[in-house]
Amino acid sequence: MDLRVNIETQGGKELVSLEGRINEDAEVVLPELLGKITGNCIFNFKGVEAINSCGIRAWIHFLREAEKKGSHEFVACTPDVVSQMNMIPNFRGACKVQSVYAGYMCGSCNHRETVLLEAGVNLPKALGDPIPPVACPKCKTTMEMEELEEEFFGWLEG
Ligand SMILES: [Zn+2]
Repeated sequence: MDLRVNIETQGGKELVSLEGRINEDAEVVLPELLGKITGNCIFNFKGVEAINSCGIRAWIHFLREAEKKGSHEFVACTPDVVSQMNMIPNFRGACKVQSVYAGYMCGSCNHRETVLLEAGVNLPKALGDPIPPVACPKCKTTMEMEELEEEFFGWLEG
């Protein structure tokens, strides 16, 4: 299977880690997962490598049913996941986003860095909110986000 899921209980919630590719395998893996979750879940996307259209359909179907069981959160959304959230509001549904990965680049030394933006720390609450500057770990220059902020954070409007 290209898609693997792992469930752990954490503070009364189910921490569901997704790994690999959300593709046609999701049509098998996600209905099984639906049978295993019982309440509020935290979906961790850190290990997701790729997402295709079959996977998106399966995920949306899964989430619609999963939302009948509880209220859920997204953590460690990769840039791929963020772009799905931006294009397809149903990909996120009513889930609260706790953290996303954003690509940054240093204009001075070209160093690239992936930075985790977390709710309550450095993730904007609304579109247009200032994001704390990220210093280049190599040369200390303030780095720029690789994506346009108004596009990358478009889902904040929803
Ligand atoms: Zn630099």
